[in-house]
Amino acid sequence: MSTVDGAQAQEQVVARGTFACPIERQEASYVVKHVVLDGAELGEFVLCRSCGSEFAPKVLNADEHAQETSLHEALSLLFSAMIIADGVIKEPELVMARQLLARHDIDYDTDVLKTDSKRVLGDLADILREASRHLSLANRRLLLEGATLIGHADRELRVEERDLILNAGRHMGFTRSAIAELLDAAATRPRDA
Ligand SMILES: [Zn+2]
Repeated sequence: MSTVDGAQAQEQVVARGTFACPIERQEASYVVKHVVLDGAELGEFVLCRSCGSEFAPKVLNADEHAQETSLHEALSLLFSAMIIADGVIKEPELVMARQLLARHDIDYDTDVLKTDSKRVLGDLADILREASRHLSLANRRLLLEGATLIGHADRELRVEERDLILNAGRHMGFTRSAIAELLDAAATRPRDA
């Protein structure tokens, strides 16, 4: 809790992980805090748990090349995992994944599913953990939101799909409540938004 103009600001931890602290110039753990004052969003900041310094979220953005590569790999694998999560590959899910990936200039080859389906069973946790080291907070949310949209593409988010999103979110450092909020937001969003 901190005081802003005499009112109480609510701080909630939404994500955690490790980063290269610019002050200490070494690896340190951090938490991302979301600040709300009287119901109004004041934004987010990154708190270094080692030296206590506070930073804008962009401190988590790695160099652009690492960011791009990680995003592409994580997008492709997470979306493939979502599509096969319930054991049934449905056309609306494929269409949604293709649309989302096209926005990042990734041409989605459905044959990739067959090779990815083996990879995602073993590697997904490692890949997401590794990717989140290079991914900005915005890109991590983009991944989870994309997965949620695919899950909702056939109008029902199955238990396996929900579990996958929860696990993926956890591997990317988000807290359980932050992921739950994202899932709830997606559930109430108009389908074609
Ligand atoms: Zn530090």
